[in-house]
Amino acid sequence: MDTKVDAKFDSIRNNEVIVIEKYKFCKLYVLKDDTVRFRCANKKCGSSVLVSPNKSNIIKFNNKSHNHPVSTPKTLALNQVKSAVKIKVNIDLNSKPGKIIRSTLLPKPEDEIMYSDLSSIRQCMIYTLSNR
Ligand SMILES: [Zn+2]
Repeated sequence: MDTKVDAKFDSIRNNEVIVIEKYKFCKLYVLKDDTVRFRCANKKCGSSVLVSPNKSNIIKFNNKSHNHPVSTPKTLALNQVKSAVKIKVNIDLNSKPGKIIRSTLLPKPEDEIMYSDLSSIRQCMIYTLSNR
């Protein structure tokens, strides 16, 4: 099968997210054999997928067709930056928020994250800090 899991990260609310062909899927539950069912992040969409225990291989799609457009590369990149920022906030307790954001953003200039996107990343940090 050509379709594969393109990315894995944790959402801001600590749910596991995988990306398949630019669609985001959220973890639903783990089955008895340790395979994991994910459903499309769009709640109005009926697509779901069963993946291997390490979440790298797709076992089976349950309705592969989506009723909505794919996430843009920028949206996916922002999701991943937020996830990375959240992890850093929890590890690096002493760095200033601005420093954490810069060190997270710097390696990925191709993601086209704009200055205006920083406020949503900062919101995500405040949310993480308040739940620490
Ligand atoms: Zn969908």
